Amino acid sequence: MPEALTKTFYIKTMGCQMNVYDSDYLAQRLMAMGMSPVDRPAKADFVLINTCTVRAKPEHKAATFIGRISQLKKHKPHLILGVIGCLAQHKGEELLKRFPAIDFAAGPREIEKIAELVQSGALGKRKILATSLDQPPPSLGIYNGYYKGKVTGFITIMQGCNNFCSYCIVPYVRGREVSRPPQDVIEEAKALIDQGIRDITLLGQNVNSYRWEEGGEIWTFPMLLKKVAGLPGLWRLRFTTSHPKDLSQELIDCFGELDNLCPHIHLPFQAGSDEVLKRMNRGYTRKQYMDLIQKLRLVRPEIAITSDVMVGFPGETRQDFEMTLDLIKLIEFDGLFSFKYSDRRGTLAARFEDKVPEQEKSERLQLLQTIQKDITIKKNKSLEGKEVEVLIEGPSARGKQLSGRTGTNKIVNFNCDSSMIGRLVNVYIKVAYASSLIGELREPLIESQ
Ligand code: SF4
Repeated sequence: MPEALTKTFYIKTMGCQMNVYDSDYLAQRLMAMGMSPVDRPAKADFVLINTCTVRAKPEHKAATFIGRISQLKKHKPHLILGVIGCLAQHKGEELLKRFPAIDFAAGPREIEKIAELVQSGALGKRKILATSLDQPPPSLGIYNGYYKGKVTGFITIMQGCNNFCSYCIVPYVRGREVSRPPQDVIEEAKALIDQGIRDITLLGQNVNSYRWEEGGEIWTFPMLLKKVAGLPGLWRLRFTTSHPKDLSQELIDCFGELDNLCPHIHLPFQAGSDEVLKRMNRGYTRKQYMDLIQKLRLVRPEIAITSDVMVGFPGETRQDFEMTLDLIKLIEFDGLFSFKYSDRRGTLAARFEDKVPEQEKSERLQLLQTIQKDITIKKNKSLEGKEVEVLIEGPSARGKQLSGRTGTNKIVNFNCDSSMIGRLVNVYIKVAYASSLIGELREPLIESQ
């Protein structure tokens, strides 16, 4: 391995939780090769940026960061700069031309190759573009101590997506759906639990369509979920992201059967009008979506439901938009991730004629977010004066208190000694805001430590 690379690395991660998982994977591979992570690019011999291309904004952010490292490289010529993730897959060749400082660009299915490239010493000798979409997701080898002090962990159970929603770039940059062998997922969960992780989230672009077949044996997502839920020492289990068209009654029933399956589901609906849902190629109707919500609340009344919604999809009329607002008011989500539609090169919708003007998109988004904020506050305020169970994860965002999450995925901040990190406690909610709850630690502590 070349001298320059035997020392330090820095990984900048943008985008979704699957990118965070890929960055954790790479960090552990590099540490297993004797390299050490540093907290600033200026200290690193090897800088990686894990990128996102789901909307225009994260692309701009990536370009800004690459520009910054290009400047740094003028003073550190041996520094190796790599761009990975969905933007590298989508526009790798352009990035290599536009930014001469980049040594290699590799897509999300090529992360295994990066470790090999580091090992072989090929990096820095010539420009490398690796964008094959045929590789299966790598199997994570947990690096001892990597999760020390952490309470929550993530496991990617599948890669890719076959749904081709007309606005979405993911199927083009993450490839076709490939599920990991169930045994690998179970072993990884056991290894995380051994390292003190008590809350695990199973990840995939569309976890509901997880499917593993070998030698006549078939594993579906509910089967895998039940197996992981049964692992000793796992207090909380979660999964994301779900697609409504693959949300089966068997999976819904898991919320009624599995005690440690947290009462929260992230179920993107995207739009409230059937006409728009059809042009988005979402594969369900407004009524079908509403029926799923009803079934979930029947099985687990306290379940928290969050979602994704897009405004300004090509051809979305004012009336279509009103249907979206109406659905939000009817369902009352606990939280919503809301976005303006933006063209993604190569997608079907990018070729649709009837684009909604930018100003109109912004007005729609603002109105929607105002309505949703009131709903979220109302939902959170219903917890004031009540006790909730919280798994303490670490210091709060501002660092003055400790913070943790409820089973319904709400953030709770309260005063408590840091020796309690990793404990399940009861917290009395004093004040609720849109993004977090403020509480007070309550005795006695739950005995199930
Ligand atoms: S389900 Fe649709 S929106 Fe989600 S990743 Fe797949 S194509 Fe994209």
